[in-house]
Amino acid sequence: MNIVQCQFCKRPFTSIGGRICPACMEQIDKDFITVRDYIDEHKHSNIDIIAKETEVSKQKILHLLKEGRLIIDSPDGGGGGYLFCEMCKKSISTGRLCKDCSGKVASSMDKSVTSHKPTQAGNAGPSIKGSAKIGGN
Ligand SMILES: [Zn+2]
Ligand SMILES: [Zn+2]
Repeated sequence: MNIVQCQFCKRPFTSIGGRICPACMEQIDKDFITVRDYIDEHKHSNIDIIAKETEVSKQKILHLLKEGRLIIDSPDGGGGGYLFCEMCKKSISTGRLCKDCSGKVASSMDKSVTSHKPTQAGNAGPSIKGSAKIGGN
């Protein structure tokens, strides 16, 4: 566990890996719905207008775009000049990489990362409860 500064509200919090505090996470989930609904109704919008109309900060909208949760379908086919591929710097509408680069990354990942560690049971899903004691806490 680390104490890190939240990238949005700048408050320190105990992180289990992310850089966003639980309060901001919750707010972002709400903002996400607001922005998504707005984009639904106003296709071909851009971040400036969306931020103004929804009162959600550009920083949060960009965050949602980078996570791939939002897609801004702007006329230039990109993220309105706000979001760029992290590899070739091409304008993109969602995520961190353009299609070309994500294809390249995926194929190079295939070679190095072939085995996936099983995710830790405990949250959702049909995990075995109670009986098996693996590792313990
Ligand atoms: Zn925060
Ligand atoms: Zn690219």
